[in-house]
Amino acid sequence: QANRKFHPHDTVVEVTPEVKIGHGNFGLIAGPCSVESEEQIIFVAQSVKAAGATMLRGGAFKPRTSPYDFQGLKAEGLKLLLEAKKATGLPIVTEIMSAEHIPLFENVDVIQVGARNMQNFELLKELGKLNKPILLKRGLANTIKELLMSAEYIMSSGNENVILCERGIRTYETATRNTLDLSAVPVLHELSHLPVVVDPSHATGVARYVKPMAMAAVASGADGLIIEVHNDPPHALSDGAQSLRPEQFADVSRAISLIRKAT
Ligand code: PEP
Ligand code: MN
Repeated sequence: QANRKFHPHDTVVEVTPEVKIGHGNFGLIAGPCSVESEEQIIFVAQSVKAAGATMLRGGAFKPRTSPYDFQGLKAEGLKLLLEAKKATGLPIVTEIMSAEHIPLFENVDVIQVGARNMQNFELLKELGKLNKPILLKRGLANTIKELLMSAEYIMSSGNENVILCERGIRTYETATRNTLDLSAVPVLHELSHLPVVVDPSHATGVARYVKPMAMAAVASGADGLIIEVHNDPPHALSDGAQSLRPEQFADVSRAISLIRKAT
């Protein structure tokens, strides 16, 4: 049950014995949209770790709008993520697109369900049979209640380790890629005991808006952030426009730790 009525205390999702998220444990997840090469993922992993990240993200199976765009390195990308984990000790977060791929994700620490699969109920039920943390992103045009019902699909199948993610929703506004619904953070905390992370990268689509929205997310009570960081954003194979360079990420990390101390 995702509902706070049946579970008054905040859930703490344990990713590893050292890395937890929820109830005062802040999760700072950073890394490239897509894993592109061994050098790229190791370099980004080391730089985000140095800047205070607690987990490494990186897409291997990519849900691209156009079938002609880069689709990810797939199984090879997962292998490179595991190498970056070995090099840095950072747990890894990566997106699954199909239940058929579950065996490939055996050594992944957190499995991400992307916005486009939030209501892929058969996938959610299969992920519910694992006991690995699931980062469940809100769909492009889904309500908060629908997000919570999708969390219930995972939890009612037996897996209580669900982290919710607000990543912006589609509105009539076009100045940003999506509209960040920050009020989802206090609403989700009121309705549910699950940890809530915010993705200011996909929410805005614009690197220079990531810092202000990350700061606002922390001020609103988010339990974590997931931020795209790339060694060379203009040449990124996906989502370069919203990706921060490592030094920009370090600046965001400093800013949010000041806000966390102040609140
Ligand atoms: C991503 O995290 O790279 C991604 C595709 O996110 P979303 O599912 O929120 O669009
Ligand atoms: Mn992306």
